[in-house]
Amino acid sequence: MKKTIVFLAGDGIGPEVARAAVTVLREAAHEFHHQFEFAEFPIGGAAIDAAGIPLPNPTLDACRKADAVFLGAVGGPKWDSLPVGKRPESGLLALRPESGLLALRQGMGLYVNVRPVKLLEPLRGISPLKADRLGDLDLEIVRELAGGMYFGERGNVVENGVERAFDTESYSTSEIERIATFAFARAESRSRRVCSVDKANVLASSQLWRRTVAAMSAAYPGIRLEHMYVDNAAMQLTLRPSQFDVILTTNMFGDILSDAAAALAGSIGVIPSASFGSSAPLFEPIHGSAPSLAGTDTANPIGSILSVAMMLRDAFGLSLEADWVEQSLLRVLSGGYRTPDIAEPGARTLSGSAFTEMLREEMQRTLEHAERYGWGV
Ligand code: NAD
Repeated sequence: MKKTIVFLAGDGIGPEVARAAVTVLREAAHEFHHQFEFAEFPIGGAAIDAAGIPLPNPTLDACRKADAVFLGAVGGPKWDSLPVGKRPESGLLALRPESGLLALRQGMGLYVNVRPVKLLEPLRGISPLKADRLGDLDLEIVRELAGGMYFGERGNVVENGVERAFDTESYSTSEIERIATFAFARAESRSRRVCSVDKANVLASSQLWRRTVAAMSAAYPGIRLEHMYVDNAAMQLTLRPSQFDVILTTNMFGDILSDAAAALAGSIGVIPSASFGSSAPLFEPIHGSAPSLAGTDTANPIGSILSVAMMLRDAFGLSLEADWVEQSLLRVLSGGYRTPDIAEPGARTLSGSAFTEMLREEMQRTLEHAERYGWGV
């Protein structure tokens, strides 16, 4: 298989976790005789430094033409004093690194963001939830990615000498329908339950959201649909996360709930994501640029590694290779190897790059002992 993969390493720990992703993809290409061509482009703060804007046109053009895109993370204190763009779709007006990410999502037509939050069994002990509450944590957050507050009208006005700032949450029926269609389809391949999360007791946009999703459920008789207010969803995630299968929600609620859900799995550093839309799919760990870790080689690469597994499976249809990566990762964790963020007392704590190397070696062992490990047979 021949594929072009665009890498956007970005800022902070972005380049470190992107290196882990490249290592795993190179290994997959080598062992399974695929041709993966990598092309690297700047985004975020790195692009501001290099080109004056967070999403230069060559970056967006390359992403649109790629077979898949991998993103590390963007942002950092160096660029925090820059103004937030008026509208993120224009690289010229949007000056913050984060605006480059929003502009990329919009420019690539990405409207779905899937965030699987699944307990990696060897990490059960480091979850902040007790084992009986944690249960079998295995849910997916399907987050709307192209609308809502992050793309709505915003601004600052001064009224009678007092400054006021505003952001607007707005959704159309068609925006809700296309993300709900994805969530229902996703649930078909899982436990056939969708929980749609909104704030319909207060927000007009949420009332339309709830009405639209409810009307669609008639077309999916095999799927159990439930509605939940976002405040209750935050509480239920902490009380009994195993009640959830697919959580369907808005851009902002999905952003917030997925960080909370990530903590249940032990660290935000272990959660991958995939975004889909009208051009190439994009894969990225859900964490940010973690500026305080940048350059220390302590960032957890697992979110990136699992994002690569999603790329192999969901973008290229390479399930065998994806299983290979995931099973090898579980064995590294079962061996007690950890990065500092997920290290319990007595763990064999490694740097991010040493952990990736440990995984690479384990992937080799998996190939050598495929039958014994029950992989690919
Ligand atoms: P963050 O995700 O960078 O960090 C939150 C916490 O998690 C920090 O304690 C950090 O050290 C830790 N953490 C994150 N990733 C980790 C990893 N791989 N291994 C170990 N620990 C990890 O979020 P933040 O601190 O709110 O934001 C930092 C910067 O990142 C800001 O500029 C923000 O705008 C940006 N950001 C970017 C993205 C993105 O690029 N997709 C997402 C969120 C935040």
